Amino acid sequence: MIGSEASAPGGREPVGLAERLSAIDLRIADAARSAGRDASEITRIVVTKFHPASLVRELHGLGVREVGENRQQELSAKTADLTDLDDLRWHFIGQAQTNKAAAIRRSADAVHSVDRSRLADALHRAADSDDVLDVLVQVNLTDDPGRGGVAPGEARALAEHVKTLSSLRLRGVMAVAPLDEDPTPAFERLRVIADGIRSVDPAATWISAGMTGDFEIAIAAGATHLRIGSAITGPRPDRG
Ligand SMILES: *Cc1c(COP(=O)(O)O)cnc(C)c1O
Repeated sequence: MIGSEASAPGGREPVGLAERLSAIDLRIADAARSAGRDASEITRIVVTKFHPASLVRELHGLGVREVGENRQQELSAKTADLTDLDDLRWHFIGQAQTNKAAAIRRSADAVHSVDRSRLADALHRAADSDDVLDVLVQVNLTDDPGRGGVAPGEARALAEHVKTLSSLRLRGVMAVAPLDEDPTPAFERLRVIADGIRSVDPAATWISAGMTGDFEIAIAAGATHLRIGSAITGPRPDRG
């Protein structure tokens, strides 16, 4: 099926999944080169939210191993459907209710959206014996406290709290660029916060930033983990 997908009639947007994936990977490589960075230090997570498990399977067939989901129920359902693909790594990137922490922990390999101590505690309590979960502190780069993430001034204290929880491994920071601001200064602020978090734990080197609309800017600002959805998967099916 993938091989039979034709190229776009207008010649601009690649229409097949494989073509879109390789076009994005080329753009990542170009952006890394322009930033004087090695593309191999950048992880491309394909955000598959709202798309069926069959799309994740197709992506796996194309070599994708890192996928992202933003809702617990969808994460749990897809991981249950795809247990045979045991080399997939599932990144949870959505707002998490504390009472969903155990279910998230059962299905995710990394949680990017830890934005309060209570959520970190709940993820920790849900651990099996010596299982360690990768977590990132999500930072709110907007002035709207209703958006996900901890306020920049509180990121370090949250990271220090995460460090005290033995079943969590502090990996770094995550953010979404504000909609109403140039992403460049926002990602630069994130980089400064990331430096502060690395002084809490030198191993916390991940900067999860950059989506379809701004991943090249995020690469220039030091992002190590890109969360790219629609540019690869195509438009998300409607969810009413
Ligand atoms: C949906 C989503 C993405 C991917 O968005 P695209 O614009 O489709 O690339 C990245 N990060 C988060 C937190 C998301 O919810």
